[in-house]
Amino acid sequence: MPKVFSVLGIPVHVMNDYAGWLLDCLQHSRGSHVITLNAEMTMQAQQNPSLANVIENAELVIPDGAGVVLYLQWLLWQKVQRCPGIELAEKLLHAMGQQQIDKQVFFYGGAPGVAAQAAAFWQQQIPSLHIAGTHSGYHSAEEEQQLQQTLAQLQPQVILVGLGVPRQELWIAQNRHLCPQAIWIGVGGSFDIWSGTKSRAPAWLGNNNLEWLYRLYKEPWRWRRMLALPKFAIKAFVYRFTARSAT
Ligand code: UDP
Repeated sequence: MPKVFSVLGIPVHVMNDYAGWLLDCLQHSRGSHVITLNAEMTMQAQQNPSLANVIENAELVIPDGAGVVLYLQWLLWQKVQRCPGIELAEKLLHAMGQQQIDKQVFFYGGAPGVAAQAAAFWQQQIPSLHIAGTHSGYHSAEEEQQLQQTLAQLQPQVILVGLGVPRQELWIAQNRHLCPQAIWIGVGGSFDIWSGTKSRAPAWLGNNNLEWLYRLYKEPWRWRRMLALPKFAIKAFVYRFTARSAT
């Protein structure tokens, strides 16, 4: 069972083996919504009650971002490892291949063709993986209805949704009833990485909690969104050292 901590009032779940937990869900057809929490999302949730409510109700909230991990380490004295959502999704897909778990996977999100390219990449990596379908994240309302029908018919058991935050979290919460036994993971820009459209930060930056700096360098337009990071740091200290309970 995961331990639950609060980061600025937002829950985060801490355990050793997130992939094992997901495989257990998969084997027992236990539906779950996985949220990959970072400092930006935490700050958004403070302003957006719908997002906060979705995170509160998710079965698994993983410490995806360096800010969240540092909060848990420095302010709550927890031994916590960062678990980037993209790596958790990769572990899950690899484990499904290795353990020959014959469950269907669906990729939804990204610019036209990107999810399909990401699926082709995974199919090459793991030929036994059963990718039931893909759908781009830019479409009309009618196409969305079609997508919903497709999901209800196919009943894939792993549904990766890459629409960005908070769109993907809200979309999953609204649509998870279509496939109640599925694992739904909001994967942000992972399809861009797997399709080769974008690259991830070198491991040494990630290991030093600096992946955000690489993203800023590659996508300078993010600077406004990233102002959330210093705001998170200030708020974290104030929050922790005022009267409120931190766990
Ligand atoms: N995206 C999408 N539909 C939209 C808006 C965004 O499919 O209406 C995709 C976009 O193409 C990208 C992903 O959502 O692949 C967002 O990636 P980003 O790295 O910005 O995610 P975040 O930082 O929010 O996790």
